[in-house]
Amino acid sequence: MKANLFEGKGVVLRVGELYLKGGNRHLFMKTLVTNVKRAFSDRDDVKLYTGQGRIFLHGACDEDVLDRLRWVFGITSYSPVEFCKKDITAITECAVVMAKQFSGNVDTVFRIAARRSDKSFSHTSAQLGIEVGSAVNVATGYGVDLEKPDLSIGIEVGREWTFLWTETQKGGGGLPVGTSGRVALLLSGGIDSPVAGHMLQKRGVSLIGIYFHAFPYTSDGAKNKVIELAEVLARRQKKFKLCVVPFAKVQEALRDAANPGYLVLLYRRAMIRIAEALATEVGIKALATGENLGQVASQTLENMAAVEEAATMPILRPILAMDKAETIDIARAIGTYDISIQPFEDCCTLFVPAHPETKGTAKTAAKFESRANWQDAVQEAIANTEVILL
Ligand code: ATP
Ligand code: MG
Repeated sequence: MKANLFEGKGVVLRVGELYLKGGNRHLFMKTLVTNVKRAFSDRDDVKLYTGQGRIFLHGACDEDVLDRLRWVFGITSYSPVEFCKKDITAITECAVVMAKQFSGNVDTVFRIAARRSDKSFSHTSAQLGIEVGSAVNVATGYGVDLEKPDLSIGIEVGREWTFLWTETQKGGGGLPVGTSGRVALLLSGGIDSPVAGHMLQKRGVSLIGIYFHAFPYTSDGAKNKVIELAEVLARRQKKFKLCVVPFAKVQEALRDAANPGYLVLLYRRAMIRIAEALATEVGIKALATGENLGQVASQTLENMAAVEEAATMPILRPILAMDKAETIDIARAIGTYDISIQPFEDCCTLFVPAHPETKGTAKTAAKFESRANWQDAVQEAIANTEVILL
């Protein structure tokens, strides 16, 4: 142990679900540690320590540190801590200082939640609770309530560290990004697909993004907006690959052969085919969209089924059953909302009438497709896809 590592301030990170993973636990912890390190790669004043199933940040624990931790998935909660010497007098003094910092009154009640993982320490957990609790009671006049305290002082006496804390913040939960495989996200400039990507990252998925750009019908502004959205998702993983697919020629080919009411459905089928080809090139075996049941005409169950018929890979729809308000709340929290609402055109409205088909079938879609030469346009779009590494 480095002599002065566990002094002063720090943050202890807690992992919940990771412990359930049995044999994989080691890999999960390793990935989590890498992700925490990446989140603080530009903060030299924050050091990371791992050992005995624990992860600590040592050093500054300012608002920025606590805020960044919210977005490192796999952490269930975290607490700013004060490290102190492994000595009953030092522990008691530290607890009293913390209790005095709490702005309580005559009715304030507290508890000591002590844990002694170093069994050689002079006091058991129960003895620690009694001894430190009496000192806090004398110093502050606060009463004791083990069930519903206003103030809870946590104490952990480990072999290599002793620390105390009073506050616990909820982490992002989920699993460390990179532990659940890779998925190709169809990323439009809208509100929904970035949130869908976020939900998958929360479950440990690492993403690539695929954006269909109908240049010159849709502008560079529309593309830049998608790049900005991808940059937000990119912060949570090692690198993020965004594929920008030139889609206008595919759309023109379909327009010339189909009933306009069917175009959205045909665009989606073409998007799925192209996305599968791009995903396959990099060994990815699943797609994801920001589709939401019944929200817009193109997202009825009938139309989803007609689109899915063109797919061979699973299509994940993480926000299928969410209300728009719930999606917007998440978009705001993760910082994509303000980017998404910038007014740029979307390729799916191109050549499409005000009331598109809501009960499409794969059979009719295939009939229109058989009249168009979309295959060459699809191959050209794949070949001309621009890859942006973020
Ligand atoms: P979003 O807010 O994500 O754009 P939306 O509610 O506007 O979704 P649609 O425009 O019907 O719904 O799109 C449904 C899904 O299809 C999107 O969430 C996205 O996954 C995919 N999608 C639509 N347009 C594009 C595009 N231009 N590029 C990539 N994916 C797209
Ligand atoms: Mg959209």
